[in-house]
Amino acid sequence: MQALVETVQERFQDRGLSMSLPSLRIETMSANLMDALGDTRRNGFTLAPEAATEKMRTLINKYVSDEQLLSTAREIFQRGWNTIKLYFMIGHPSETLVDVQAIIDLSKAVLREGRRFHNNKAKVNVGVSTFIPKPHTPFQWSPMDRLDQIQAKLALLRQEVRGSGLQLRWNDPHESLLEGWLSRGDRRLSLVIEHAWRQGAKFDAWQGHYRQHAWLAGFAAAGLDPEFYTHRPRALEEVFPWDHIDAAVKKKFLLEDWLWSQRGDTREDCRNQCFACGILPKFAQTRATTAEPDWECPPVVPKHLRGKPADHILPLHPAP
Ligand code: SF4
Repeated sequence: MQALVETVQERFQDRGLSMSLPSLRIETMSANLMDALGDTRRNGFTLAPEAATEKMRTLINKYVSDEQLLSTAREIFQRGWNTIKLYFMIGHPSETLVDVQAIIDLSKAVLREGRRFHNNKAKVNVGVSTFIPKPHTPFQWSPMDRLDQIQAKLALLRQEVRGSGLQLRWNDPHESLLEGWLSRGDRRLSLVIEHAWRQGAKFDAWQGHYRQHAWLAGFAAAGLDPEFYTHRPRALEEVFPWDHIDAAVKKKFLLEDWLWSQRGDTREDCRNQCFACGILPKFAQTRATTAEPDWECPPVVPKHLRGKPADHILPLHPAP
């Protein structure tokens, strides 16, 4: 990331280039990266904690501590940015309203950091979208939150954000549900899509164009239950409609991640040691011919050592 930013800067610095980055995982942030962005206009800086409690971040295998997040925010404000955008998701498996409340609490803590450097000019924009357990991820076995659960979580956020100085944006949960149906569906969904289209559904991702009635009518016409696709837990041995699509990462690797996540364990960052996810054999040919020096994976951890993430591996975030 840093090499990329520096190269783009170097090449285009005399053309008044302003560069901003998409949301960043906190653990990829560094003072050097911020310095590399230093000459650009300091618009909003987007960070993606994705979940607001350490427990939930462990569950989604994106562990960073609150203190890491706050110290990164501090660095960003200190270096001249006065706006931070925080990106979260609601609807993670086993999430409670306490975890949702934590989104506001953590965002307020970030705002307090900003005010230390920019007083009332400091801004924190909070973006919230609905978690959709997507195929080819460890969460493909997980049910998605129901509409009423998501609406209750959004209601809490909207209530708690009042008077806080935070700006809150969120995705329409109905549209997330549609995304869930389409991304987790099987071939029978083609009937639903055709029917919805005939009923006028065309640009449903455009604001104000979502036609829920057309989709529900499509499910009814096809004799299908939409809940079957989004809200049921899936058996570990279930054959998924997308299993025949080879995305390189093996299903058993994803399953291992899912089971670890259920136990509250985090898989070690595989840049330290390899867990044989499946991409090495898949891309053997590409790796043999590429000149890219970063296209390397470390040695594979023997199978009998896997499954004990906490006690035999290096810490993900070693102490400085
Ligand atoms: S190190 Fe490479 S092959 Fe090993 S688990 Fe990570 S991405 Fe997969």
